[in-house]
Amino acid sequence: MSGKDELTLRFVQNLMKKYYYRRDSARGLYATFTWLVEEVGELAEALLSGDKEAIAEEIADVLAWLSSVSNLVGVDIEEAFRKKYMNPEPPL
Ligand SMILES: [Mg+2]
Repeated sequence: MSGKDELTLRFVQNLMKKYYYRRDSARGLYATFTWLVEEVGELAEALLSGDKEAIAEEIADVLAWLSSVSNLVGVDIEEAFRKKYMNPEPPL
């Protein structure tokens, strides 16, 4: 994949699995979830700073760690998102 090809949630999740699943498994679910929360905190700080580059970086981190947590519990993010939000009556 080159830099500007289409990027799907499934691709992101599979990429994270390929590179990090072994390490994520060894760390365990709750420690990995703690990293996700840490990244959400970093995103909060970036939002407060107003630094757009920092905000973009932390959004990428949150997606990466959300993918790791999802991989550990065997949830396909695309499927979960489709089921919850891509239906005739999405949640308000
Ligand atoms: Mg970060």
